[in-house]
Amino acid sequence: MIRLQTDTPQFFSDLGDVLRLFYGDVSVSMSDGDVLFEHRFTEMDGVWTDTWTSQGRQNALSQPAFPGTPLEVKRLRKRQVKSALYGLLKQLTGMHPPWGSLTGIRPTRLIYEAMEAGLSPEEAERNVISTFDVTPDRAALLSDIVDMQRGIREAPADRFDLYIGIPFCRTRCSYCSFASGELGDGSRVQPYVDALLREIALSKALMDEAGMRLRAGYIGGGTPTAIPCGDLERILAAAQAAFPDAVEWTVEAGRPDTIDEEKLQMLKRRGVTRISVNPQTFSDDTLRRVGRAHTGRDTVDAYRLARSMGFDDINMDVIAALPGETVADFAHTLEVVEDLAPDSVTVHSLAIKRSSRLHEQLVVAGAGYGQIEAEGAAEMIALARRRLTARGWRPYYLYRQKYMAGNLENVGYAKPGKACLYNIGNMEETVSVLALGAGAITKWLFSDHSLRIERAPNVRNIDEYVARVEEMAQRKRSVILK
Ligand code: SF4
Repeated sequence: MIRLQTDTPQFFSDLGDVLRLFYGDVSVSMSDGDVLFEHRFTEMDGVWTDTWTSQGRQNALSQPAFPGTPLEVKRLRKRQVKSALYGLLKQLTGMHPPWGSLTGIRPTRLIYEAMEAGLSPEEAERNVISTFDVTPDRAALLSDIVDMQRGIREAPADRFDLYIGIPFCRTRCSYCSFASGELGDGSRVQPYVDALLREIALSKALMDEAGMRLRAGYIGGGTPTAIPCGDLERILAAAQAAFPDAVEWTVEAGRPDTIDEEKLQMLKRRGVTRISVNPQTFSDDTLRRVGRAHTGRDTVDAYRLARSMGFDDINMDVIAALPGETVADFAHTLEVVEDLAPDSVTVHSLAIKRSSRLHEQLVVAGAGYGQIEAEGAAEMIALARRRLTARGWRPYYLYRQKYMAGNLENVGYAKPGKACLYNIGNMEETVSVLALGAGAITKWLFSDHSLRIERAPNVRNIDEYVARVEEMAQRKRSVILK
């Protein structure tokens, strides 16, 4: 445990995130701990100085006090106190995290902000390197993504995107932290679908009142194709009747063991434009280890079936640094993916969230998952980027998560013209998302004064959601129409 004493306790949690860039999932306390980090702030002669001390080392950072609005001052203060701590940690550990001192989940934003302030894309790239110590390699990745998002990052003000969550899976993967329940005997599916249809009807009335029309729809989960074909069709049919005009409809077909010809035919008939068939890995040993009840061969068969039925926009998700996987295992997964040539590939770095079974197995039970996997993860992520970009996929969206192996990132790569609009709008927070189903979080954008985002979360528990669906719809109404 680390003890962190600071003159600016309002940034305590952000400072904890900086420590975790170097020390992983460490506990940080203001009062207890084996190692002390001490912070002093002074303002003298119009200069702000932040000084950090620990283990006999010291790092100080100064800059002229900024005479801005309280919000601007807070932002700059936070940046400086974090940067000063980051500098000390670099000295102490000799490490250079790939994203420098950045702890946020949307680093592309910094490039956009710099460009809005008048910098050229090249200057914006250099700015994230000099201000946040981001590695040149990651800064170039951000520039590539910004380039790929040109013309599709925003939507007209009267358009929204729709997310529908189907929180059921056949079995639960050990790394899963989603609000997803095992299908079991399937008895909870009908009440859930009925509640969802009710939420769709209430949301249609809301969107009509708000004068909003759908741009892109996304059905995720869980694994939407885990429920019976007829139920999934009822949901799609209701959503498409309530919200016509979408230019994109994605359904996560996710696990290959839930895909069959009947479901694919239904998705085609319903005009679904994009599906995901996710191998995660092509190592059968790893699939078994993480609790996915299918083989690599099943994924290949499901993918080929979808292609043969005319799906021309298929995504595949893979995960780097799954427990026990080597760089060679991951390279094999990439080879198979490249041969299959999906239209987009999303490369995740394993995030061991506290709500996952894996966290229990590896972290709590002390089986260990640390530096070796983190180093492997970095190599795997670099390999994916090299190989995919050399074969015509380009990075088009990126996000980071806490508890991610090696402090890395998740990146979506797509062939030209195959970038998913929903993914970009959702990750960049440039389009309002109406989110339905258990655990789904509506994010609504308001452009009145400054850009403001308000959230309306649905309850995560499936039974609670079914019982309280009217209340969930009312929550959205009070946020969107206030
Ligand atoms: S398929 Fe996805 S949602 Fe389902 S258990 Fe695995 S990680 Fe969780």
